[in-house]
Amino acid sequence: MSTAPRIGLFGGTFDPPHLAHVALARAAMSALALSRLLWIPAGQPWQKTRVITAAEHREAMVNLAIGNEPGWALERCELQRSGPSYMLDTVQTLQQRGPAEATWFLVIGEDQLAGLHTWHRFEDLLQRVTLAVAGRPGHWPALDPRVQALAAQAVPLPPMPHSATQVRAMASRGEDISGLVPAPVARYIAQHRLYAGG
Ligand code: ATP
Repeated sequence: MSTAPRIGLFGGTFDPPHLAHVALARAAMSALALSRLLWIPAGQPWQKTRVITAAEHREAMVNLAIGNEPGWALERCELQRSGPSYMLDTVQTLQQRGPAEATWFLVIGEDQLAGLHTWHRFEDLLQRVTLAVAGRPGHWPALDPRVQALAAQAVPLPPMPHSATQVRAMASRGEDISGLVPAPVARYIAQHRLYAGG
């Protein structure tokens, strides 16, 4: 069997990271037989119109969500880059870094698949990575025919209704979010009063 590394790229705003992110990351590791999964917090998520929590907090929370899970790592390149966070730039940077023989997977949820044709130069991006998609409960727009034509691997994930939007809303009302985010992330949110009154 080939020993070439299989690397998953898992981008997101992670504002905050929640338990569906963790479950999706685990499911991707096993379904795609990944050697590594890089969690990539977006620096400036160009498709989000609301105010995003400071990068240092999102980075700290992703680190807490990663914990000691084997193969998982935080990738900071989008936090270090100025300008909009385009996944194509990220993939080019990481592939240049290597290893050259690696196989690369772009891990996304179904909502992102529905908007994939709006991503910056998405067809160039998809030349470089294999798409891996997990289902997400919700009603998503029909796929663009160009996206429908793409080969994608399925990442089996039981339906998980979690969203960062829901976590932020509950935290802002002072509700208990412990069932929605990893315990260290819940503690971090409380300590730093993130989302309070927001
Ligand atoms: P927000 O509610 O702020 O839009 P989010 O919960 O969608 O945030 P992101 O950080 O934008 O979180 O998501 C990162 C990645 O994780 C995306 O590819 C997204 O599709 C996927 N994802 C997030 N939540 C789920 C879920 N419940 N089921 C499947 N995939 C998910």
